Amino acid sequence: MKIKRYLLATCFVCLLSAGAARAASEGSGAPTIIPHKTNPNEDALTAGSTGVMSPPITYHGGLVMGTPTVYLIWYGNWNQGNGSDTSGGQAIIRDFIYGLNNSSYYQINASYGTATGMVNRSSAEYVDHYSQGSRLTDTAVQTVVRNAIASGKLGPPDVNGVYFVLTSSDVSERSGFCTKYCGWHTASTIAGTNIKYAFVGNANRCLSACAAQTVGPNGNAGVDGMVSVIAHELEESNTDPDPVSGWADSRGAENGDKCAWTFGANPQGPANAQYNMTLPAISGGSRNYLVQRNLDVNSKCYVDYATKQQ
Ligand SMILES: [Zn+2]
Repeated sequence: MKIKRYLLATCFVCLLSAGAARAASEGSGAPTIIPHKTNPNEDALTAGSTGVMSPPITYHGGLVMGTPTVYLIWYGNWNQGNGSDTSGGQAIIRDFIYGLNNSSYYQINASYGTATGMVNRSSAEYVDHYSQGSRLTDTAVQTVVRNAIASGKLGPPDVNGVYFVLTSSDVSERSGFCTKYCGWHTASTIAGTNIKYAFVGNANRCLSACAAQTVGPNGNAGVDGMVSVIAHELEESNTDPDPVSGWADSRGAENGDKCAWTFGANPQGPANAQYNMTLPAISGGSRNYLVQRNLDVNSKCYVDYATKQQ
């Protein structure tokens, strides 16, 4: 497995005052749109002799989600039939969200109280063929989400939803995909509802920055790289939906940030196609994934919460 250099993350959210934590109720005003972005070289912060990541994560009094429903928005062209932009790539991501539900990995998130360790996957999806072009801005990503919700194809606006904009590898995100981050999440009032959404770009665009390996356990390096970033953004959306009013450390790092790009001690499989978890697939059977660890409420990174495997 490629060893990444760990640099301290640029803190995109530290300008938010901890004292500005919002009430847990919904619709309490439009949050400022400051996406929480994942640096490709993010973290990990220093772990002490007890394995506790420093500084520890704490609760800031704001919203924490219960069981999130994941909505997939496929942006660009996911049926190019080559590289990573294939229906096979989409199937990997669908299977991953399906397999996360109540997994011993996602149970790490259940340690935060109201989060349950459960994940719903909406079978309703939305396809957007370049309505905002192939060079997106943060605002354009929000427009994609707004249009997807307005279409009605994803059902009514879902306050418990996390809407993922997933781009094909010919699409860039101009605020820094591949150079400053691999994904981000935020929340905004859309259709009168507090909507949580995330951007995760196709890692095939920049494997050296946004994928941990060059082949991947499913033979699709770009998408195999994306699933780890999707896990990261989903976990953070779950425990800190309005950054940073939920769970974050004193520097603004959320749970996913503090274990980013670490995969535990026991990845298996051949070089460049390693995996650290096996999850059930939609059509039966299972798939292997290499997914970054996640932080529990006691500020320790785990890959499996049932066995407490770090
Ligand atoms: Zn993050």
